[in-house]
Amino acid sequence: MRRYVIAGNWKMNKTVAEATETAAELRRLVSQVRDCDIIIAPTYTSVWPVAQKLSDSNICVSAQEIHFEKSGAFTGAISADMVKEAGCTYTLVGHSERRQIFGETLESSKFRMQAAFDAGLIPILCIGETLEEREAGQTMKVVGEQLDAAIEGFDLATLENMIVAYEPVWAIGTGKVATPQQAQEVHAGIRERLRYVGQDLAAGMRLLYGGSVKPANAQELMSQPDIDGVLVGGASLKADSFADIVKARS
Ligand code: PEP
Repeated sequence: MRRYVIAGNWKMNKTVAEATETAAELRRLVSQVRDCDIIIAPTYTSVWPVAQKLSDSNICVSAQEIHFEKSGAFTGAISADMVKEAGCTYTLVGHSERRQIFGETLESSKFRMQAAFDAGLIPILCIGETLEEREAGQTMKVVGEQLDAAIEGFDLATLENMIVAYEPVWAIGTGKVATPQQAQEVHAGIRERLRYVGQDLAAGMRLLYGGSVKPANAQELMSQPDIDGVLVGGASLKADSFADIVKARS
């Protein structure tokens, strides 16, 4: 039985004061929830204060991104050890905005996975196709390449400590949500691909859907057999709408 994961990505939103306020409100709203993993990913400046607000709660903190080097002359970058020390349990890897705006490559996602595993963080690997790629019938090819590049060379025991988020780029922040059937089809394809790596790995891997998830569509998405939770951007910014999504899991 795979445990649901409900993760919120706050992207470049919220000052420290706003982030801690939202975190405190969310803590109150979901305090009774025990049967799923709840995660929020604030900006770097808010990681530590938000983690403090959420200490001894049922909500964990994620980084939105890590650099793959441990330390050194990498101006503007933050390492896996640093975010771990500041209170993160998870980190996103390969979010489409990182790939598209900041030029992260297939190869660098593997280095980031390595850095996350080395630091004891759980990576949430984000993969997904653009609209052009979907219309060209390339969805599984693109998603498969992103997955393969990120997990290549790791042993099964290591890969058990990761989560995959399928986020079609055309659905992120656009209001165009994939239908539950479209999402399920890709999730089933991802799980099938993981079977070549390991049967048990594939059966146990939590696969999240991301892309314009809201309280109104979360339940139907999460009722699909291969959708084990959601990664939420815009609708995670308000504590009440994120809490409604947490409560919508089936
Ligand atoms: C995201 O940023 O991962 C995301 C899914 O955003 P939104 O929910 O706003 O589409």
